[in-house]
Amino acid sequence: MTDTIQATGDARMRHIVSTSGQMHTPKSPFVGEVISSVPLSSVADVAAAVRAARVAQAHWVQVSYTQRKRIFARYHDLVLARQDEILDVIQRETGKARGQAMEEIFHVAMNAEYLARHGKKVLAREKRAGLFPLLTSTHVHQVPKGVVGVITPWNYPFTLAISDALAAVFAGNTVVIKPDLQTVWSAIIAVDLLVEAGLPEGIATIVIGDGVTHGSALVDEVDFVCFTGSTATGRIVGARAASRLVGSSLELGGKNPMLVLKDADLDKAMDICVHASFTSAGQLCVSTERIYVAKEIYSEFVDRLIARVSNLRIEARMGWGYDVGSMTTSAQWERTQAAVARAIEQGAHIAIGGHSRPEVGPLVFEPTVLVDVSPTSDVARQEVFGPVVFVTPFDTVEDAISSANNSPYGLSASVITRGIAQGRHIATQIRSGSVNINEGFGATFGSVSAPMGGMGDSGLGRRHGPEGILRFTEPQTISVQYLVTVGPQFGLSDSQWVRVMTHALKLLKALRLR
Ligand code: NAD
Repeated sequence: MTDTIQATGDARMRHIVSTSGQMHTPKSPFVGEVISSVPLSSVADVAAAVRAARVAQAHWVQVSYTQRKRIFARYHDLVLARQDEILDVIQRETGKARGQAMEEIFHVAMNAEYLARHGKKVLAREKRAGLFPLLTSTHVHQVPKGVVGVITPWNYPFTLAISDALAAVFAGNTVVIKPDLQTVWSAIIAVDLLVEAGLPEGIATIVIGDGVTHGSALVDEVDFVCFTGSTATGRIVGARAASRLVGSSLELGGKNPMLVLKDADLDKAMDICVHASFTSAGQLCVSTERIYVAKEIYSEFVDRLIARVSNLRIEARMGWGYDVGSMTTSAQWERTQAAVARAIEQGAHIAIGGHSRPEVGPLVFEPTVLVDVSPTSDVARQEVFGPVVFVTPFDTVEDAISSANNSPYGLSASVITRGIAQGRHIATQIRSGSVNINEGFGATFGSVSAPMGGMGDSGLGRRHGPEGILRFTEPQTISVQYLVTVGPQFGLSDSQWVRVMTHALKLLKALRLR
């Protein structure tokens, strides 16, 4: 990689566990942008990384919350202060527009700050009602799982590599991160800055390798798997972890609907749609791929959207100053072309876009709006994960809700309306982990104190908020019994003891003490 990475040399590679002697050289989606090679891990290195992380965890768990909090608060500041350096890495590895890469930096900073401020309280031991009032003192403690394997995709490579890892580490775990091979430097820089913020070496380490071999090897070794990626891989990972009786959180794909009601502010709706559908060239799990518009405003909506999309600046280069960047991998670019071709075969029409733009960049695909999409066609049901959205009119709000729910996925949804009460009511009827009212995905995704995750094929478990921390712990109940023991005593026979207990339970119920 040029500039920042070369300037600091190989020192950051110490976070990678590798003895293979082989190197991996990722390629930037931008023509002429070189990315530095990194050492590949062997499968044996994956097991070694987890062994070392297990030793480190025994020490890390002894570190006070006050100390953890200091590190995380410093990380927040460091990530914001070093944004240019981080942006260079994200942009070069993913090809996305710089302003959209910035969303990752804000997300990491917000997660670090949330954990610094609230993590201790979430993890504090909690008093619960004991067996006998006064005689049984019961508390629930949160015990870290141990070593967490974090497996991440290439689309939001900085935040996905570190934000979940931050919650795991704050809860007293150590982590071994396996980033996608396309975006290894985003993970390396994320870990390196955390160490610069004060995290001891060895608490967060990285293995570099392929999904099927190295990803599987990691799943086979760790005490919990935190996976972000496709639904197809998530099923394999979840099943493999479950066969070891190891838990997993699975943050998977989406086919996210947006409902635009007839009272919507159309100027605002345009901003929301364009951002929600084309950020990071649509390569975002919570990206909008289906827009259902009230029939009364449908024509005007489509005309305005076409006008708006035609003004988007599409480029593929480092730096600021454009709206839609390159796609990241040639495989995803090919899948997107194929998805549009199939949609047309199945009766859809292109309202705008629909083509690759090789003169702009080798992996550039135009922001594309489809109309006349049949609800049973592939593009209506399968995630594209590219800059492609379709717009369909609806007759009644009930129809719109039913269309939104006509999907195996349930990750994110949006409702655009001036009637907030109605928007909230509709939201409760949509089967989706998050629903944004008058926003695409940013309002829920940026609310890092509240859970985010998927229903149905969009996954299991939640990131963010207390739920996102507690997935990395085992609740342990500790009860202290005073004066009497549990079972017959004081010379009582079994039947006498049963009578005493029966009276005691009735009394406790009457007094509402249990
Ligand atoms: P992917 O499933 O192909 O790969 C994700 C990660 O899993 C990579 O690190 C890969 O090397 C690894 N992997 C692949 N096969 C594996 C296996 N058998 N065992 C263990 N690990 C394996 O996903 P992708 O194509 O890189 O990412 C795009 C997908 O991710 C989209 O479907 C998108 O919606 C989803 N995603 C979801 C979220 C979310 O938070 N819900 C966020 C980002 C992306």
